[in-house]
Amino acid sequence: MIYSVEDEADIRDMVLYALRHSGFEAEGFAAAPPFWAACARKLPELVLLDLMLPGENGLSILRRLREQPSTRGIPIILLTAKGTELDRVIGLNEGADDYIAKPFGVLELLARVKALLRRAGPTEKAGRLTAQGLVLDTERRLCTADGASVDLTLKEFEMLRFFMENRGIVLDRERLLSAAWEAAYEGGTRTIDAHVQSLRSKLGAYGSRLQTVRGVGYRFLEENE
Ligand code: CA
Repeated sequence: MIYSVEDEADIRDMVLYALRHSGFEAEGFAAAPPFWAACARKLPELVLLDLMLPGENGLSILRRLREQPSTRGIPIILLTAKGTELDRVIGLNEGADDYIAKPFGVLELLARVKALLRRAGPTEKAGRLTAQGLVLDTERRLCTADGASVDLTLKEFEMLRFFMENRGIVLDRERLLSAAWEAAYEGGTRTIDAHVQSLRSKLGAYGSRLQTVRGVGYRFLEENE
């Protein structure tokens, strides 16, 4: 998934059309707030970032992306208008990976995107679930909390994945059992309670997101709860 933050609708539409036509999934945002909301749901593989935006500008977005452990490694290409050379230099110093000067052609854009994704390698590809600083890399089967590695068992990992894919939803013990244990499992639903307890202690501050719903099961709290 590629996110484009661009307030000019014509450019945004052109970028999204070009990316989707080349087989990428892409979403566009006219300003920072909806972009941050989307990041909270799903982190992108790459961000195309316009510098001149209404409200929070591109440099501020760039800095915030680079500050947070969960977004630090996301490749970022700046889109800069003519006459903003200084911003471009600052942006590259602040950790942007590349820039494209406007006006640009779609072929140039696609070439830069593909080159950067190649450079970024498989670690930054899709398959990441995040909740603020909690990151689940479902391809490499790694979990990190605020950048620190969390050692989860296979079942704990599968349960956390199921929780994070269904955040906000109350999940009863039967559903959790079938999510983490593919075949029928005779261990009983109490096993779920033990695994949730273990997950809570391993996840540190994020453990409190696993809320007990008395008499039913558990739910993974959403960001704003
Ligand atoms: Ca702009």
